[in-house]
Amino acid sequence: MPQDSLTHRSSLDVCGLHSTKLDDSGHCCLSNEQKLHAEVRLESGPKTSSSRAGRGYDDGTMELDWRICSRARLSRDARFDGKFFIGVKGSGVYCRPICPAPTAKEKNVRYFPTAAAAAEAGYRPCLRCRPECSPGTPAWVGTPNTVSRALRLIDESGLVGGIENLAERLGVGARHLRRLFVQHLGATPSAVAQTRRLHFAKKLIDETRLSMTEIALAAGFGCVRRFNAAIRGVYKRTPTQIRLLSRQAGSQEENQYLFRLRFRPPYHWNAMLDFLGPRAIPGVESVESGVYRRSIYFRSNHGFLEVSLDDANSALVVRVFFGDSRALFAIIERIRMMFDLNADWATVARTLRSDLALAPRLDAAPGLRVPGCWDGFELAIRAILGQQVSVKGATTLSGRLVRAFGRHLPSVGGLTHLFPTPKVLSDADCRNIGIPRARAETIRALARAVSDGQIKFEGIVNSDEFLSRLCQIPGIGHWTAQYIAMRALREPDAFPSGDLGLLRALRANTVHELESRAEAWRPWRAYAAMYLWSTHSALAARAGSERPKRPRRFLKAT
Ligand SMILES: [Zn+2]
Repeated sequence: MPQDSLTHRSSLDVCGLHSTKLDDSGHCCLSNEQKLHAEVRLESGPKTSSSRAGRGYDDGTMELDWRICSRARLSRDARFDGKFFIGVKGSGVYCRPICPAPTAKEKNVRYFPTAAAAAEAGYRPCLRCRPECSPGTPAWVGTPNTVSRALRLIDESGLVGGIENLAERLGVGARHLRRLFVQHLGATPSAVAQTRRLHFAKKLIDETRLSMTEIALAAGFGCVRRFNAAIRGVYKRTPTQIRLLSRQAGSQEENQYLFRLRFRPPYHWNAMLDFLGPRAIPGVESVESGVYRRSIYFRSNHGFLEVSLDDANSALVVRVFFGDSRALFAIIERIRMMFDLNADWATVARTLRSDLALAPRLDAAPGLRVPGCWDGFELAIRAILGQQVSVKGATTLSGRLVRAFGRHLPSVGGLTHLFPTPKVLSDADCRNIGIPRARAETIRALARAVSDGQIKFEGIVNSDEFLSRLCQIPGIGHWTAQYIAMRALREPDAFPSGDLGLLRALRANTVHELESRAEAWRPWRAYAAMYLWSTHSALAARAGSERPKRPRRFLKAT
C-alpha cells in the first residue's frame, strides 16, 4: 500500500507549482484565485459526489478546494492536466486528470500537486494515461524564486552533483532547499529529478526504437542495470515488457526521433509561427506550411528539428534528427521551453483580463505564448542585429552573418548552416555584412564574453545579475536585456517598457504611464507584451496599403 506519510506532512501553505494547497490529509487544494476560476469554468461540469462531505476538513473552504480537483477529474478537464495528479488507493497508481480509465470513487483517491509527490507517496505511474506525457507543470506560478530557479536548473541539467551542489548554487542550505521543495511541490529535489528521469525513460521506451542501453544513458541513469532496476521498481515490469505494451508501430530511422509534447489548451500555434516566421534566420531556421524547422548544435554534435501542431491531441509533434541519443533529454527540454509548453494560459489570462485593453485581445486570440529560443546567444546576436532596422532587415542581416561565419551543412529542407559559435564571432569582423562599426563591436564583445565564460545563458541563478552583466556590454541596453529575459531566460514578468510599439498599442504617452499600468499585469507582463504587440501588428495590418508606420524602438532587438 502506498505510504501517505509524506503528503500528510505537507504544509497548508500555497503550493506554488500549481497554486495548490495540500490539506492535512494530503488532498490538494487550489488557491483562491484558482478556485474562483475553476468554479466559473467548471460550473457545467459534473456535480461532485457528496461522499466526502464532512471528511475532516477544517472549514468549508477546504471542502471547496477539494471539490475543484474532484470536478476537474470527473470531467476529465484537459486544462487541469499537469496541474495535479490523482493517486488511486488500492491499485496504487497515479493518473492525470484526463485519464480514460473508469473513474475511481472519491473516497479512493488522493490528490497530489506533482507527479513526484505522488511517486514519493508510493504510487506508480498509470500505464494508460501515462503521466510522463502530461504537459509540464507551470512551475513558476507563485513559487518562491528559489524553487523556480532550482526547477530550472534541474530542467537544464538534472541533479548533477546532488542536492548539496544545487543548494550551493542557489545560495541556500540543502536542508532549507529540501524543506522548500516539500512545502511547495510536495516532494524533495531528488524525487523531482528522479521522476523526471523515469518519465523521460518511459517516453523513450514508448516512442522510440532506441536500445535499452541507449535509453539508460539518455535518461541519465548511468548504466543499464540501474535503469532496469528503477523501471522494474516503479512499473513492476521490465523495460522490454513496457515496450511490448506500447502502441508504437513501425520503425523509425536511425537517429530520428518522434515525440509528442503535450500542452494545456488553448495554444495559439499560428500566432507562434507568425512571430517566429518573419524572424527566422535564413539557412538556420524556416517556417513553412505550419512547420517550424531549424538546425541545431549541441554538445559537439549537430542535427535538425522540426515542430508542428497536433491539435486533436493538444500536442506539438517534434521530430529530432540527431546523432547522439544521450542529448535527447536536454533537447526535448529546450524545445518545451522554446514553445512555452509549460504555460498555464488560463491563469495568465485571468490576471490580464482585468485590463480592458487586453481583454478583447485575449478573447480574439486565446492561447498566445511567449516564444522562447533554441539558444540564448543566437537570440542575443539576432536582437543586436535588429537594432535600428526593420524585422525584415534584421532577418537579411542575420542570414548574411550565418553565410559568412556559420558552419555549412549538407542542405536539409532549406537548412544549410549552423549559427556561428561565440568563439568564431569573437574574432569576426562583422562590418562586411552591412552593419555599423559600433554594432559589429557589440557582437564581438558579447561573443568574447560568452566565449570566455563571463556570460552564460545556461544555469542562470540570478537573472537580475545576469542582465546587469549583459548591459555592461556597450550597445546592449535595457530594451535588449528585457527582450532577452523574455525569450532566452523565459522570465514571464520581463517587460521591455521602453518599447514604442507597446506604448502605441496602449495609447500611453510615457514609459512611466505604461509601467504604472503594467503593475497590474504582474507576474505575466511578458504575455501582456505579446498581446500588445499582436494588437500593434493587427493595427498595422488594418492600415492596409498604407506603409506600416512601425516605430523604431519597436523594431529594436526583435
Ligand atoms: Zn491513468
